[in-house]
Amino acid sequence: MEECIFCKIIKGEIPSEKVYEDEEILAFKDINPAAPIHILVIPKKHIATLLDVSKEDNYLIAKIYEVINQIAKDLGIAKDGFRVITNCGKDAGQEVMHIHFHLLAGRKLGAKIVG
Ligand code: AMP
Ligand code: ZN
Repeated sequence: MEECIFCKIIKGEIPSEKVYEDEEILAFKDINPAAPIHILVIPKKHIATLLDVSKEDNYLIAKIYEVINQIAKDLGIAKDGFRVITNCGKDAGQEVMHIHFHLLAGRKLGAKIVG
């Protein structure tokens, strides 16, 4: 996974504004925020897309939601609400082939979830 930019962020080879980190999960600010709060939550294990999630990763995916829950409370967005999005493949516009969960908040996000 030499050229995966999110793996490089995990290794500290590319800087990021970390919001949360443990041995399995990293959350950092999106470099091009689409909302006042825009955080990317990723597993440290390189999984390219949602289609590459296997049974053994179930724990990681569940833990990502647990982390999002905690971040939302820590950042004070739990009450007003937030949105979680995972793009998969070209029609969804997935640019980085390391599975990630966009956490968006801080403004009224609108009824439509598509851009
Ligand atoms: P997606 O289109 O779902 O693959 O989302 C990729 C996201 O990664 C975009 O919102 C980018 O702004 C974000 N991104 C790309 N490079 C970086 C980086 N070095 N640090 C933080 N976010 C990044
Ligand atoms: Zn990666």
